[in-house]
Amino acid sequence: MKRVRVRFAPSPTGYMHIGGLRTALYNYLFAKQHGGDYLLRIEDTDQTRFVEGAIENLLEALDWSGLHHNEGVVCKDGEVTEVGDCGPYIQSKRLGSYHKAVDKLLEQGDAYHCFCTKERLDEVREEQRIKGNIPRYDGFCRGLTKEEAQARIDAGEKYVVRMKLPHNEDIVFEDLIRGKITINTADMDDQVLLKSDGFPTYHLAVVVDDESMGISHIIRGEEWLPSTPKHICLYRMMGYPEPTYVHLPTVLNKDRKKLSKRQGDVAVEDFRAKGYLPEGIINYLALIGWSPEDNRELFTLEELVEHFTLDRVSKTGGIFDLDKLNWVNQQYIKVKPGEELAELCAPYLLEAELMTAEEISQRHDWLVLLLDTVKEGMQTLADVVDRSMAVFTHPIPEGEAMEMLQGEQVPLLLDTLITKVEEAEFNEELVTGLLKSVQKETGIKGKNLFMPTRIALTGQLHGPDLTNLLRLLGNEEIIKRLKDTNKILGR
Ligand code: GLU
Repeated sequence: MKRVRVRFAPSPTGYMHIGGLRTALYNYLFAKQHGGDYLLRIEDTDQTRFVEGAIENLLEALDWSGLHHNEGVVCKDGEVTEVGDCGPYIQSKRLGSYHKAVDKLLEQGDAYHCFCTKERLDEVREEQRIKGNIPRYDGFCRGLTKEEAQARIDAGEKYVVRMKLPHNEDIVFEDLIRGKITINTADMDDQVLLKSDGFPTYHLAVVVDDESMGISHIIRGEEWLPSTPKHICLYRMMGYPEPTYVHLPTVLNKDRKKLSKRQGDVAVEDFRAKGYLPEGIINYLALIGWSPEDNRELFTLEELVEHFTLDRVSKTGGIFDLDKLNWVNQQYIKVKPGEELAELCAPYLLEAELMTAEEISQRHDWLVLLLDTVKEGMQTLADVVDRSMAVFTHPIPEGEAMEMLQGEQVPLLLDTLITKVEEAEFNEELVTGLLKSVQKETGIKGKNLFMPTRIALTGQLHGPDLTNLLRLLGNEEIIKRLKDTNKILGR
């Protein structure tokens, strides 16, 4: 088999779409499985959509996700640069090769100059629309001779170059997921290949580049499926060997519509900012459109390389389910060491003003303990704020929590707790033995012991592990909170 070479070829739109990352992931997995190459090409032929910093942004999102490529456009020491033998890997730097291809197609009679104005094209489309036909180019300039075209170019008329599709010919190709696909050229358009600004369209550039970069498998979103027959025609006209095609199911929202920016977060960087881990995002994305044989749900990137197969990728769109993503992400947070989480969660604590930068650097061990205590219920890193509120604040208990503090055993319980913490040295022995020794001395036990203690310390019915909470609060804060509770109770 020919060496596997795949590419992820995003347009620099200013952000990295989460569905695009899924395309990158499947390309990456396919390449790794076959010991092949996975490269990154930037498709920036639409100059009207140029966005400053967009390439850096894409590279940053890919790097964060862990899908590292070793060929194409990369970021080195903060600078966008390129590695590999098939460059440039940025389309706006490859204009020469597109012009060469267009010249060849014109020369062969497989392309023609078109001088139709926007107004004329709009009129034609409007007429077709009224007649109920699919709008497409009517071939007005197809019959111009080379001399006629040249005379008009010399006279300074604006033009584009279109491909000259053969009449009434079946274009047949194989898609690894969808099987055999047949489209007749009668249902296709004479696609513009070169625009009036001298830039190629996506269709021309993608074919020229995939061929010159030796791409063996084109794995991309199904929105490109209607374009593929045009690309196949171009391959044939140019005499290039055809690659294998794989069109992936679209990532949909719950209404089965394409996941779009208008309905909320679709950018990888939004998910990152909300505190999703790359492990969680990658694992979840793999499951949109691909189902492993045994319905297993958790896979690291390495495990995905081992288990992923294209033949278990579905033909229909995959639904993006935030609850499922949250669950997957939670599984990765749960097993992450507190040490790592402390670093990852520090920005959220800082932003919520629960800790200062100084406290974060000075109370490292304490922060690690905090994370080990609260991580169990966190679905995102941002959840650290809510989950650790009980440690940072001491709200007045309400409702059921307040009722529980009315128990007749509570005054004795609080006083005994205060005395014990005040009198003994605050150390591990005190913390681990505190509740037992209060039980021994007062006879208060079980729910009557634990619940009022927790409520007195946090104002809440539920929360982090009580022993860890004592460790995290320290003696002064414990005594203060117990005394404050006494005051709330009017004692
Ligand atoms: N530049 C296209 C995009 O932004 C890629 C299409 C392809 O992979 O052929 O999605």
